[in-house]
Amino acid sequence: MDHHACRACRGPAGHLVLDLGEQPACDYFPRWDDARPDPVYPLQMWLCSSCGLAQLLTDPTVPEEPRGAEPAALVAQAADAVDRVARAGLLPPRGVVTEYGSPHGGSWLGLLTQRGLVPSSDGQPADVILDCFGLMHAADQAGALAARAAGLAPGGMLLLQYHCLSTIIRRGQWNALRHGHYAYYSTAALIAMLADAGLRPRTAWRFDLYGGTALLAASRDADGSGEPDEAVRSLLAEDARTGVKDPAVLRGLQHDAWVRARDLHEWLVREASAGRKVVGYGAASRAVALLRLAEVDRGLLPAVVDASPAKQDLRMPGTDIPVVTPAELTVRRPDTVLLFVPDLLAEVRSAFPEVEASGGRWVDVEAHGSGGLEQDA
Ligand SMILES: [Zn+2]
Repeated sequence: MDHHACRACRGPAGHLVLDLGEQPACDYFPRWDDARPDPVYPLQMWLCSSCGLAQLLTDPTVPEEPRGAEPAALVAQAADAVDRVARAGLLPPRGVVTEYGSPHGGSWLGLLTQRGLVPSSDGQPADVILDCFGLMHAADQAGALAARAAGLAPGGMLLLQYHCLSTIIRRGQWNALRHGHYAYYSTAALIAMLADAGLRPRTAWRFDLYGGTALLAASRDADGSGEPDEAVRSLLAEDARTGVKDPAVLRGLQHDAWVRARDLHEWLVREASAGRKVVGYGAASRAVALLRLAEVDRGLLPAVVDASPAKQDLRMPGTDIPVVTPAELTVRRPDTVLLFVPDLLAEVRSAFPEVEASGGRWVDVEAHGSGGLEQDA
């Protein structure tokens, strides 16, 4: 790729490993009657040949995503994580804490102050710096990590939580690639970045969140030697088994994306030709890349139902598919409701019994593996 320098090590060499084509900013939901073409930008993942950081290649200016309601799974994980870090003795009483938050919300500060930590005031060095899905939102990865390292008090600990690249690869989570998310960390690449910032890993914890999330604790080189512990070595071993630095392995995500998109398109064509009515459920930003990759328009999917009042009178970005209210489930009496939000099946079945009462069914677009929709039809 011309002109791209790694966001971490500034190295110029790397591979384009995933290309989802031209995509709108994921939270750009226009009004349904806005006929102007939506602005689109290339959505591509690049793997650095030097440090191994998987990253967003192009850098469009996108609006900051609003803080939404925190999913229950995130809240529970935060409490679990703080508990495990405390039991490891890494939360000093009356210690100063700085939090680098995610624009999506999910602050741990309340949990940490309950444990006796004190939020830092302007520029005060911190004994604990917490970064929960924050660093990935920085276009300049090296600069952002250096800023965190500079804020550590002597003996301080940086806690970094990230969705593991090995998880993304093993689970085919190509949909994790999003504008505004600049980095997709393997533990191996993150440790190389930490070394450049004068930090080294001490220990780590794993969580089931998003299929596999890690929280890594790192401190200054100067604060003692000591090799990474067994938990860190185990994450590195998993990286090695998965092949997180191998462009050919990451290109598997491209295959996963194409298969998912092709299956969706073909399934919708078959449903339409059989005269069966399909609507979508869940106007989630994660559905946008899939709909565009699958070349789905309102001829194939006439509407996406969403319960959020904020999404009404809008359409799915980059498509002509309108977002409609749940009342349409009764009006349209669909044969199938295609669910775009994972893990919500039980909830929507109970919230909208009218779908099955009138002979319709729910299909989770992600719960089915590749070919799943095919078997289902
Ligand atoms: Zn690099």
